[in-house]
Amino acid sequence: ERWYRVVGRPAGDGSGLSVLVFKDQSEVRRIDRMRSDFIANASHELRTPLASIAGFIETLRGPARGDAKAREHFLQIMHEQTGRMARLIDDLLSLSRLEMKTYANPSDSIDLTNLVRGVIDALRHLAEEVGVEIVREGADGPVPVLGQRDELIQVFENLLENACKYGQTGGRVVVTVDAGDGVADGPSVTVRDFGPGISEEHIPRLTERFYRVDVETSRAQKGTGLGLAIVKHILTRHNARLTIRSELNEGASFTVHFAPR
Ligand code: ADP
Repeated sequence: ERWYRVVGRPAGDGSGLSVLVFKDQSEVRRIDRMRSDFIANASHELRTPLASIAGFIETLRGPARGDAKAREHFLQIMHEQTGRMARLIDDLLSLSRLEMKTYANPSDSIDLTNLVRGVIDALRHLAEEVGVEIVREGADGPVPVLGQRDELIQVFENLLENACKYGQTGGRVVVTVDAGDGVADGPSVTVRDFGPGISEEHIPRLTERFYRVDVETSRAQKGTGLGLAIVKHILTRHNARLTIRSELNEGASFTVHFAPR
């Protein structure tokens, strides 16, 4: 079912013909629905920790008043819940900032090898915490692309953080920078882990906002469900693509392909 609305009726040019201009209403409706789904999801995600904090405040004022041990325990939970709200708000702000930016071609000259090296260094601490070794493979020399530096850092931090968090049982994450052949294939970066992987039906939906394979695991890993949506957004601005491959129990690999220059 498609709905059209007349949005303009240009004056005739004397030819006796008049032209109607139609706009596809089903597309307008789809975008409206997506927007309200997004607001409903975001509100729900913020409401949940808020409700838990409110509940603990009530308990601390009433039944748990004077119980030092219970107080410590509840304060710890409240602290975690405020952290969760803060992460969510940061991610929501990132997304809305990306959407509001008027489009300008990202134009910093970036060396991917160097940028990826920096991201790995920044995440070494987290990797050690979860018992993962990050290995860098592929190009050693410079691999130039045009991009927006902070945004690309955010992309690779997200992918690498996910690989460490969700693939930690694999013990190893391999990051490969490939210069491409410069003709058909542009440069690419692959982040591969050896964890539980992702079953096929989830793969096409991973970059949707708030889509998580397992909400409990994601929460335990301090996830917001917005990371890959942000990644996709940034890559679109860069005219780059994300491909995701995975085999259950063999791990997952996320590749960012840049267009050849
Ligand atoms: P989150 O904030 O929940 O990590 P993301 O958008 O970054 O959100 O990822 C969406 C979901 O994709 C995650 O909740 C997780 O279920 C799944 N996922 C992402 N990366 C991996 C990976 N390397 N291995 C397995 N599952 C993954």
